[in-house]
Amino acid sequence: MKQFANNPRCEEFHSQLADIIGSGEMIANHPHLQSCELCRALLADLNVIAQAARQLFPVQDPPMALWGNIESAIARQDALDRR
Ligand SMILES: [Zn+2]
Repeated sequence: MKQFANNPRCEEFHSQLADIIGSGEMIANHPHLQSCELCRALLADLNVIAQAARQLFPVQDPPMALWGNIESAIARQDALDRR
């Protein structure tokens, strides 16, 4: 993200970005976005990527729960195969 390197407020914002998204807060309300066109554009890109990712991976469960589902599905299939 070379074009942001000159703005310490952008760097600070970017370092918090994952935490803010992870916390479920509405990132669009972040004060930095009100004043920074570059980061608004970045966020628009991220939203496009996030939407594409949701279409590719529609499962909402965290990976550990997903793995549990896969394991039990395999176990069920094994049980069926052994009949
Ligand atoms: Zn910025």
